[in-house]
Amino acid sequence: MRAIKLTQLLFGATLVLASCSKDEVNVVESSIDENITVKNSTERANLKPIGSGVMMQAFYWDVPAGGTWWNTVKGKVQDWSDAGIDAIWLPPASKAQNGSLSMGYDPFDYYDFGEFDQMGSVETRFGSTTELKQLITSAHNNNLSVIADIVLNHNSGGQKELNTFTGVEYYTKFEPLSGKFARTFDDFHANSNHQSDPAVFGGFPDLCHHQPNVQDWLWKRSNSVAKYYKNEIGFDGWRFDFVKGFEPWVVKEWKNTVGGFTVGELWDGNTDTLNWWADQAQASAFDFACYYKMRDAFEGGDMTQLNGDMLWKRSGSKAVTFVANHDTDIIINNKMLAYAYILTHEGYPTIFYRDYEEWLNKERMNNLIWIHNNLASGNTSILYTDNNEYIAKRNGHNGPGLVVYINNADHWDERWVQTNWNNTRIKDFTGHSTWEPVTQGNGWVKIQVPPKSYSVWSVK
Ligand code: ZN
Ligand code: ZN
Repeated sequence: MRAIKLTQLLFGATLVLASCSKDEVNVVESSIDENITVKNSTERANLKPIGSGVMMQAFYWDVPAGGTWWNTVKGKVQDWSDAGIDAIWLPPASKAQNGSLSMGYDPFDYYDFGEFDQMGSVETRFGSTTELKQLITSAHNNNLSVIADIVLNHNSGGQKELNTFTGVEYYTKFEPLSGKFARTFDDFHANSNHQSDPAVFGGFPDLCHHQPNVQDWLWKRSNSVAKYYKNEIGFDGWRFDFVKGFEPWVVKEWKNTVGGFTVGELWDGNTDTLNWWADQAQASAFDFACYYKMRDAFEGGDMTQLNGDMLWKRSGSKAVTFVANHDTDIIINNKMLAYAYILTHEGYPTIFYRDYEEWLNKERMNNLIWIHNNLASGNTSILYTDNNEYIAKRNGHNGPGLVVYINNADHWDERWVQTNWNNTRIKDFTGHSTWEPVTQGNGWVKIQVPPKSYSVWSVK
């Protein structure tokens, strides 16, 4: 979500008005549809479980246009899998109003992945249907799952028609060339279900998820968007865009219908809000609380901010942690320290394409991914924090765990900490320190860390 960043603020303010009261919520069967024929189940047989490793956000805002992006990503999936990535998150893949230039967040035809001549182009910015399917097959063959970016709040590119509820003409007539999911004004706000009209604020026609036609096409029918994406295109999981714009039961019902890992973009630093949404949607949420605490710690120069509340501290399995994404990139200094933080802590960490491929040291990133996948297990205990330093341990689970030492000062530091290991030789698995100390009988040991850097200690 970026195209409506400005309006998002306005829309957020009207959310109370726009959202439906609880007694309006439709109850829908909550079992995964057994009748779905999964065409590509064979190539999916060996996928790594999503969340066992690290997610790659496989795009950034305004990736090169011209229909080459799917091929670019395809060329990288083997290396990413070898490095310990378990899933790739693709941008919204179907035809949007801005055609060959769109990043996909202004969806028009959910079923046109680059084969119909509409919105000024056949291919999407990223390529053709065939190229997308080839990318997904290649990812699956490298044991990677593929996460679709799903934009359900709003649509774009419809023709003008009269809304008989408001008496006003608006861009709500959608007749996509795929022939699927035709929409009219009653599928958008305001309509017979809801009189309020947030579209006035956002500009984009705002889908009404209570409308039977909308539910039917989005997730219920045999060739719904959800089932088509899973069974025909091959997506394995879901990233829902701008979930502040609609109620969490929509995500829950989608997930209950087709299954798969699900994460929502609820752009809010309030942990209670994130936790509430994750509970209601029965899904994971991006940990914006963690994101803003890291900003205050690494940019703001106060590492004690990392003692604050974050979604991963409530539940590691609900939190998808990240340092940057296609919308926001505010942790500029000490970015490696932020990655050292999310890749040693609980939650499912995401790596931003440009950080990995262009901006940061790939060898250092791969080392942290390895540490995440091999050492970072068990719950977390914070051992020490001050303005410049942060030390925590993962207590281990079927493994020794680790101690991570992050230093925002411009000099080396060292400190005595109590580990879970007694009379045991440990080392820094980042290679930043050459020390190989032996812990005392009570677990105490002295560890060190370079300036503006980190060390990660575990059993040698
Ligand atoms: Zn509605
Ligand atoms: Zn110091």
